[in-house]
Amino acid sequence: MTGTTQDDYTDRYARRVRGMTTSEIRALFAVASRPEVVSLAGGSPYVAALPLDAVGEMLGRLAAEEGTTSLQYGIGQGTAELREGICEVMSLSGIDASTGASPDDVVVTVGGQQALDLVARLFLDPGDVVLAEGPTYVGALGAFQAAQAQVRHVAMDADGLIPAALEAAIAETAGRAKFLYTIPTYQNPAGVTLTDERREQVLDICERAGLLVVEDDPYGTLSFAGDAPRPLRARRRDGVFYLSTFSKTFAPGLRVGWILAPHAVREKLVMASEAQILCPSAFAQAAVTKYLATMPWREQIKSYREIYRERRDALLDALEDLMPAGTTWTRPEGGLFVWATLPDGLDSKAMMPRAIAARVAYVPGTGFFADGSGAGHMRLNFSFPPPDRIREGVRRLAGVMEQELAM
Ligand code: PMP
Repeated sequence: MTGTTQDDYTDRYARRVRGMTTSEIRALFAVASRPEVVSLAGGSPYVAALPLDAVGEMLGRLAAEEGTTSLQYGIGQGTAELREGICEVMSLSGIDASTGASPDDVVVTVGGQQALDLVARLFLDPGDVVLAEGPTYVGALGAFQAAQAQVRHVAMDADGLIPAALEAAIAETAGRAKFLYTIPTYQNPAGVTLTDERREQVLDICERAGLLVVEDDPYGTLSFAGDAPRPLRARRRDGVFYLSTFSKTFAPGLRVGWILAPHAVREKLVMASEAQILCPSAFAQAAVTKYLATMPWREQIKSYREIYRERRDALLDALEDLMPAGTTWTRPEGGLFVWATLPDGLDSKAMMPRAIAARVAYVPGTGFFADGSGAGHMRLNFSFPPPDRIREGVRRLAGVMEQELAM
């Protein structure tokens, strides 16, 4: 053992470790967070918009007044109070008792990320296939790859997942696909939303094929004009797992998310979670419960929506005004991200060091495909930088692209 950064343990790792790769986003975080860099790379909500003093007071009181429970171990499924609160949050999107949602079938998780890992643990054997949008959420790729599953991407267009492409993928992977993983609303990273009509088609196709659906919905309430189409889970209860999180509507630092699972599966999810973490943080759960019970959380979501709509507009205007000819991009109606397609010949991954030198960061499209394709695209975040920084970031980025095109 040399004690250097060289990995002397390679021969000892379990097979599943071979599928683990560094997330490009995590690797970028260090440089992108330098103050001189305009970061369009992250996915951070603008938590400065929270009433931080009031949240601080609330957190202090939690220890002083409820410390004997909030600082104690809890149960694996998560507290009943929080699960009730979660049902209230889901009812905003039409997932309520009339669609079979109940606090009993909710499992509290450490962010949406643990929910993804639990679903992977429960359903994926090595070699199994997961169908997922192409591009898809990088953290989901990590969870599925750690389970040694293969991800088969399904194409999207401006209306979300393409039903005919889903049918083709199912036919091609006959018998090996365990579930469809989908982010139907304000997709990360593409920013597109599955239309109402396609939601029904996708559900019918999966039902006919006997394919489970894992619906990941962190962004559904962050709409900029009108409400998003109802979630898949609000339309169908059998075979649909609904995953969400407080990371984007309240605060990611608390790491609280959840799964609403078909009743028969809930017990297994709890067992799998207990094996991983014993129980979710009692303090974080108490914090979210108190927040939902005593603070204007619906207004907070509205305020996030307004801030992000303004920033989305700033990003779209800047792209329109500044990007070189041949660049195209999506026009999200909610969420945090725009997906840009570069002029022919540009490679977003190869260009990244030049972009960082020009003090702007984005996430290369390659992070969002299991096979590392997607170099002709990039993800741009608009939730964190204020409008003037967004414009400055796009100006720098356009400059780098013009230089690459001239090379
Ligand atoms: N799913 C999607 C689609 C996401 O974008 C994210 C966060 N970026 C997550 C899950 C995980 O969220 P959390 O912070 O709650 O773990």
